[in-house]
Amino acid sequence: MYVVQIASECAPVIKAGGLGDVVSGLSRELEIRENCVELILPKYDCMRYDHIWGLHDAYRDLWVPWYDGKIHCSVYCGWVHGRVCFFIEPHSQDNFFNRRCYYGCNDDNMRFAFFSKAALEFLHQSNKRPDVIHCHDWQTGLVPVMLYEIYKYHGMGNQRVCYTIHNFKHQGIAGNEVLQATGLNRADYYFQYDKLQDNFNPFAINLMKGGIVYSNAVTTVSPNHAWEAHYTEVGSGLGHTLDLHQDKFSGILNGIDYDFWNPEVDRYIPFNYTPDDFEQKVYNKKALRERLLLRDEPQKPVIAYIGRLDNQKGVHLVHHAIYYALQREAQFVLLGLATEPGINAHFRHEKNFLNDNPDCHLELGFNEELSHLIYAGADMILVPSNYEPCGLTQTIGMKYGTVPIVRGVGGLVNTVFDRDYDPNKSPEERNGYVFYQTDYGALESAMDRAIGLWYNYPQEFRQLALQGMAYDYSWNHPGTEYLAIYDRIRHR
Ligand code: ADP
Repeated sequence: MYVVQIASECAPVIKAGGLGDVVSGLSRELEIRENCVELILPKYDCMRYDHIWGLHDAYRDLWVPWYDGKIHCSVYCGWVHGRVCFFIEPHSQDNFFNRRCYYGCNDDNMRFAFFSKAALEFLHQSNKRPDVIHCHDWQTGLVPVMLYEIYKYHGMGNQRVCYTIHNFKHQGIAGNEVLQATGLNRADYYFQYDKLQDNFNPFAINLMKGGIVYSNAVTTVSPNHAWEAHYTEVGSGLGHTLDLHQDKFSGILNGIDYDFWNPEVDRYIPFNYTPDDFEQKVYNKKALRERLLLRDEPQKPVIAYIGRLDNQKGVHLVHHAIYYALQREAQFVLLGLATEPGINAHFRHEKNFLNDNPDCHLELGFNEELSHLIYAGADMILVPSNYEPCGLTQTIGMKYGTVPIVRGVGGLVNTVFDRDYDPNKSPEERNGYVFYQTDYGALESAMDRAIGLWYNYPQEFRQLALQGMAYDYSWNHPGTEYLAIYDRIRHR
């Protein structure tokens, strides 16, 4: 099968979070299964060019219709860890992708509407006719809309779209100008409840809703989150739209790429290890402590948090966990980036305050290499999210024998099974600690049980870590599920 992924991220070259991991990991899995996969991405100025091999001009004269004129683009081609990627570079005064950031600009709607249009125009003009176009999140929600309303009439009537929603919180709420710019000219037609009109604001369009309405299949990134989005406020207003389209909506758990996230082969960690020589993990812990200037003696567990610092991630609980860990004679390592100024200021303040503490390190920024060392060196990984569509840090943590302590929401429910309480798993199948409420007491009780086991029953703690390592959270299962969906929509 010939699959084209259109996305705003692809790890490790463009990565702000899990979306990047998923786009690259799924593409790799599809290729292993002998499908032809190509990716179309924006050519951001700030992406990691050192991860692209053989970047060259592939298509110099792509003219993309925009408002009443056309914008000239170049398309570059290069290989990212073996995957063929096309990077679109527009030449216009808007400088859509030369902003030193991926997201967070006032005109993000326009930037990604343009990208969606340019990606389709590239397929159209270069005569690429994939069986399936897989697009992701609000940034590419207009792809199926334009495909069925415009490009179908230009020889692209056989293409099918699978649309994956990684986060319902960001939906791309836009005005009429996006329709005008992209050539979706009949505003009255699109501003209808069964089309793109936002479910709350009748004067706005919702790009993610467009993705849901027009795609042949819609997925989100875990079965539990699919249920939450459909039936609870977690769908951020799209619950009814999902209900209307429930026949094509499902949840598929994200995998992780075990070529990249695997302590056996990880290039970023000083000591590789497997479940059979699990003792080697402790040398990574030593290396982590050295690198972050944490004291090595007396022996204490290291609890880690890796992730974006924003309200989704339960930052109030992250903050509390730092001090609770220190109080319980554990060490705490945080690697996180806050884009919201208030949260950023808060954690900068904490970092200054804790600067001289030998049991704590807060690293504020994005650092792929360091994240690998933390997964390998920590004993426990904390994921106290308010909501979590899938969550990757708990599954990556488990692969590295790092025991997850998570809040029971979204994909965390599908991946972490409480050592002491899980009703559906036998003791041998349990792999972490789960709490449910958002108050400090709930968090403390889960941390308490984990730290207690580490101190008092080290053999049992080790066993729990090994049970986590035994889980297969690779792309193996999800790869099969996505292919089944592609097959279904192709033959419809
Ligand atoms: P989300 O997609 O909501 O950001 P996920 O748990 O799905 O969260 O994915 C997070 C991914 O981003 C993981 O691969 C994690 O290691 C990585 N990550 C998050 N924050 C950082 C950071 N500050 N530095 C390095 N990697 C990070």
